[in-house]
Amino acid sequence: MAPRRAGRSRQVCLCLLMAGLASIYCGMHVYPQARSGSGKHQMRVFVTLSTMFLMCLLRTAYKLPGTVPQSFKAGESRGELPVHTREAKKTGDVRKCKWCGTLKPDRCHHCRACGACILKMDHHCPWIRSCVGFYNYKYFLQVLLYATTLCIFMSWTMGKSTMRLMSGSAPLWLKAVMCFGEVLLILLSIALALFASFHLRCVYHGQTTLEFCEKLRRSTRPWNPDMYNLGPWQNFKAVFGPNPLLWLIPFGRPEGDGLSFPGCVHEEHASQAAKVDGGISSKVGLLSPVRRRPPANKDVLCSDQM
Ligand SMILES: [Zn+2]
Ligand SMILES: [Zn+2]
Repeated sequence: MAPRRAGRSRQVCLCLLMAGLASIYCGMHVYPQARSGSGKHQMRVFVTLSTMFLMCLLRTAYKLPGTVPQSFKAGESRGELPVHTREAKKTGDVRKCKWCGTLKPDRCHHCRACGACILKMDHHCPWIRSCVGFYNYKYFLQVLLYATTLCIFMSWTMGKSTMRLMSGSAPLWLKAVMCFGEVLLILLSIALALFASFHLRCVYHGQTTLEFCEKLRRSTRPWNPDMYNLGPWQNFKAVFGPNPLLWLIPFGRPEGDGLSFPGCVHEEHASQAAKVDGGISSKVGLLSPVRRRPPANKDVLCSDQM
């Protein structure tokens, strides 16, 4: 099922914001000093970062995050999944989406906004009107990294021009526009840096945003937060792909198929958690080292909320 897309207001705001900041930067900072060496150098860096940012943004928006294949619907009639899973219902049954009526592989969650089950769902992003999941998470991270770098570069290089303009005899409206752009860039730099740091931390620990939130909610219960943690290097390869030379390029694909995932590096912890939790016998958890009991009336990794 193709994800449903709705609402354009945020996209319009995003386009206006990007166009406005680029106009202020180019028109009031780069253009006045275009003849100088530093002006040309800054323009080249700005164009390069902007191009990469836009390419990654388009890839994130138009690359589908990945949905459950038809074979999972067919498997429903036989009561089994075509792949092995470690996540299951409390009863030990296969997780099933009550909206789509399809069986759900590990890390798959239903997005109400998109109207589909998304593979390795991270979150639904209203700015691109699509989910961020298995196939476009790499591009989403690249958007954050390039946007953060671009905002820091613009605010840093435009700082001197802003100070010079504010201390000069320029018209008041010109000072207000320049000051507005500079403050906005600084605030965006801070917000984007924090957001990017959070997502890099999630990648480092082999978690999605949903799994991070689930970990917080289960802080008082037996829970293995490293269920999919393969170690930092393998975790980054799982998201950005096997070739590090392509990690900053908006091409290539992550490792795997988004339907099954290798085990964690903390098998001992998982075994202990399974002992504490009593363990369950899932119909499909044949390869899973983890046998743990989910909370009452919910799937192991809930969702169906976003
Ligand atoms: Zn669904
Ligand atoms: Zn969605």
